[in-house]
Order: sequence, then structure tokens, then C-alpha cells
Amino acid sequence: MFRDRRAVVLDLEGVLYAGGEVLPGAKEFLAALDGRGIPHRFITNISRHSAADVRAHMAILGIDPGPGRIVGALDWAGEFLRRRYGAGRVLVLGVETLQAAIRAAGFEVVPPWAEGRADIVLVGLDEGLTHFSLSAAARAVCRGAHFVALNPDVRAPREGGSFELGGGAVALAVQAAAGRAPLVIGKPGPFLFEQAMAELGVRAAEAVMVGDNLRTDVAGARAAGMASVWINRWGALPGDPDVKPDMEVRRVDEILPHLPGGARG
Ligand SMILES: [Mg+2]
Repeated sequence: MFRDRRAVVLDLEGVLYAGGEVLPGAKEFLAALDGRGIPHRFITNISRHSAADVRAHMAILGIDPGPGRIVGALDWAGEFLRRRYGAGRVLVLGVETLQAAIRAAGFEVVPPWAEGRADIVLVGLDEGLTHFSLSAAARAVCRGAHFVALNPDVRAPREGGSFELGGGAVALAVQAAAGRAPLVIGKPGPFLFEQAMAELGVRAAEAVMVGDNLRTDVAGARAAGMASVWINRWGALPGDPDVKPDMEVRRVDEILPHLPGGARG
């Protein structure tokens, strides 16, 4: 089915692992990609941890993806802002790792009490969120600051099917108060898909995206022009778009026969 696809782009959580648990078929799938020499990248909306942290977590689980293969929203946030706005002062609702990434890209990070100086408001998952900081972010956006969200994920999945509030839910609160929607760095926005394809040296028509989220992975891949495989673990979630993947499977290694080098590839 994906005979003409030269590269694979994968989501991580819900595809290869769920929290501290490796999902069935994940090890076999990664070994087959390496064995057949199929280039691949992982793109993740995760807004609490850097790509290096994610790789370390995966290595502990015994599924080390290798160096330089994870394209994370947190790590690329600074570059996104730099390409889009050049320079400026950023009010960040997010973890210290995100603030450091923004500073490393040459931006000044301003605290919520200096909201009047912010040119850009960046919203991620913020464990130190307060009524004050949320209000300051909303006022800055209302005043005309650029409004950017790390991802649109309203839930951050936790062990046993539980969840915490995701950065997307915080961005929605700012949006509700300010009356303006954010630009989104992560999936389903095009930025991470384009970054992964640039690193792989392929066009959208040569790549296939694998993910467990219809809204971010499948709809994002469709918008980017890529074929998509949906790992259907729980069915569609409330609010998921009416989008049809090119293939639907229960576990990631069910794709292997359809990729180059497979029996039906
Ligand atoms: Mg996922």
C-alpha cells in the first residue's frame, strides 16, 4: 500500500509507548525500520520535556530511537518564533525547559508582571500556572501581542488512561478571554511535519505519517499532503474531526507488510 513511500514519520506516545509501558509491536517495528534502511523521524507535541529527555525515557524502556531523530515542539519553538517574528520579548506560560529554549533562540523572556512589554505570548504546559499569569497572558494578547501555542492538546495523557490538563486547554482559556485564536507550532500545524521532511530529504508524497490521534496526527498529515496510518487504541475522541486515514491498525507492527521491503510493500 505504501510501496512508493521512502520515509516514515511517527508520533511517539500512544504509538511506541504509553507512559512507562512499551506498546506491543514497537520494538519489532523500530528494528524493521532500521533493518530495511527506511529513514524515519519522530514528531511530538510534548511541551513538558525536551527531545533529549524523551530519548532518555525511551532508552530506559529499551526503545532508544537513536540520536537526532526526535523533532519536538518544545525544542523547535524558538526557531519557529525566530523564523516568524525575527526577534522580540516573549511572555511564556510554560516549563523552565521551554523558557530556556526561547532564550537560546535569542529572545528575551518577560515575566507575567511585565506583560506590557511582551511582543509575543507563547503558551505551553505550565505547571506554575496561576490566575495572575493566565490573566496577564490574556491581557497581552488582547492588547495585540502575537499569540502562539506550543500545541492544541487539551489533555496530557497519564498512566491508566487518566490525563492532566494540556497546554492546549490553557491556550483555549487565553483565547476565550482575548477573543483571538493562537498560531500552533505543533501538530496538526505544518511546522513539525515540514521540519521532519526537510531532515529526511523527502517530499510529502514520499512520506507516511503514523499516529494515534485523529485530530493532530491524521488531520495534520492530510493537511501536509502525507499519507497517514491511524493507530486506533480507543476509537475517536470527542471533538475529533471527520477525517479518514489511509490505513487503520491496532498496533504499529501491522504496518510492516505494507512498507518497502515488506511482503505487500
Ligand atoms: Mg500520540
